[in-house]
Amino acid sequence: MPDHDAAPPPTQPDAATLRAEAIATLGRVGVAEGEFTREERLLRQQSGSEASPGDVLWALTTRVIERHTRARDWDGAGLVYLVQARWLHDHEPGVDFSEPLRLAHSAAVLDIQKRKHHARVAIDGKRCCPACAELDGEEYSFARAIEEGPIPNATCELGWCKCTWRGVLPERRRRG
Ligand SMILES: [Zn+2]
Repeated sequence: MPDHDAAPPPTQPDAATLRAEAIATLGRVGVAEGEFTREERLLRQQSGSEASPGDVLWALTTRVIERHTRARDWDGAGLVYLVQARWLHDHEPGVDFSEPLRLAHSAAVLDIQKRKHHARVAIDGKRCCPACAELDGEEYSFARAIEEGPIPNATCELGWCKCTWRGVLPERRRRG
């Protein structure tokens, strides 16, 4: 007789599902399944034990970030940092994902700076929570935005802070 009061099964996927999700996630940043399999084997040889899909994903995404960084492709690097943060958030509860998320935002600042249309950046906190709405519109120089890394907002009321940076035009080009 099944126990109807039993807790629902844990939502963490089994190893095969997790592995498939890691492969799909990597596909979105241009890493082929063959590279996943190769890295998985390499890590197993190095450590003598099975590498988790998360470990394989981390090794491969870190390499993609290094490649984008060398090419000063901040847009590309930011996307991969975001993938790392999202992976931790979704699959590794208890692991702090704010560092890769902050690095994704810093890459966005570097990308805005590189495009040379804007003089500085401002926090766009309108679409997040009341705590973040208070930060909305706060302006930072490019350097200070990266040095202080105020987003993700540490006092955000959501599990995943949705604040982003937007470019601020130089005074002479602002309208109104
Ligand atoms: Zn928030």
